[in-house]
This record gives sequence, structure tokens and C-alpha cells, in this order.
Amino acid sequence: MVQDPEIVSTCRHCGNCTVLRVLYESERRKDDVTLLLVDCRSCEEASLLERVWTRDLFDPFGSLSVTEETVLYPSTGATQFRFLPREVRKEYESALNIMRHDANAFGVMVRRTLEAVCKERGVQRGTLACNLREMASRNEMPGTLADIADHLRLVSNIGAHHSGADISKDDLPALLDFLNLVLEYLYEAPGRLRALQAKASHAEREADGTLE
Ligand SMILES: [Zn+2]
Repeated sequence: MVQDPEIVSTCRHCGNCTVLRVLYESERRKDDVTLLLVDCRSCEEASLLERVWTRDLFDPFGSLSVTEETVLYPSTGATQFRFLPREVRKEYESALNIMRHDANAFGVMVRRTLEAVCKERGVQRGTLACNLREMASRNEMPGTLADIADHLRLVSNIGAHHSGADISKDDLPALLDFLNLVLEYLYEAPGRLRALQAKASHAEREADGTLE
């Protein structure tokens, strides 16, 4: 395995697809995983990557090549949610990834996250505004949360359309907090509750002697 002095990849700090200088690459762990410390030629921020190496079975020398690369730092922040459905997580992570670089694109991804939420709940026949109202009328969300989701929808419209107006970068932390609230209420809190209930019922059955 030869260490590359530089690699070309997308820097999560500045969002540029650029040259990252390799400062350090660890020995292979678990036979096929290395850690890579790099710094970005564009913004000079450091990142930590994990690389998975795979042996080429058709190569008589059995040479190794990188088959997977994951950014461990900077984190997207998505790890705070353990119970997001796959499609919702995909859109949410894209929103987080673009947030530092493009406020309007963040708005578009917030909208796509809300659309994924409605679809996951089986509400997808109308416009996003109608679908959110339908979610509220089905009591999937209490009134204030439905208002928050609708506010996110309105702001995301600014990001999605060329109207001369832009989403302000200053508003992004509040918008992300709102989006997190919606996801926390719909997925994370119920998921955590289910996990705790399962644990409590397991402990109860163990105490009763009904569990081997
Ligand atoms: Zn950078």
C-alpha cells in the first residue's frame, strides 16, 4: 500500500471538490481499514477520513485499492438521530451537507426532507402544503408543530424559486432547529420510547423468570 501525498475529494468544510493533502495515514486496522488525516488546499481546514481497502482478486500481485471512503470529521450532525427512516435520513443528511455552502440549496433540501416525511407517512397525493395540513388533521403532528412545518415549507419556497429573494444565512440555525423539532417529534422520541419499553419489558420478563 502506497500512501498518496494528495487525493482529490469533496471537502466538507468548504464544499469544494479539491485537492486534499494527506498529513497522515494509519497502518491498516482490521486488515482493511485505514484512517486518513488530510487538509484542504482550498480552505486549509483538516478532515479525518476512514478508508476501506479491498484486495483485487484478479490481480496476481493481490494489490489493494480504496473501495469506500467515509468522512468521520467534520460530522454532518445527523448522528443525533437514530430512528430516522432511510429515505428521510437521506434527504436530511443532504440538507446538512449543503447547509454551510448554499442557504437556498439548504431550503430546497429542507423541502425534500418534509416531502420524504409525508411520503413515509402515506400522505403524498397533494401539494406539500396540502399534505402537511393532512398530516395535522390526522393528528400526526400537534398544531404548533404543524405551523412550524408549514413555516419551513414557506421558507423553502424562497430557496427553490428564482424570485430575487434569498434565504438568509443568519436564519439557517433557526430553520435547522425547527426541522430537528419535527424529526424529533415524529421519529426520534417515539423510537427512543419503543427502545426503552422493550428494555423494560425484557427486564420484567427476566425478573418473572419467564425469560431463559
Ligand atoms: Zn475545504
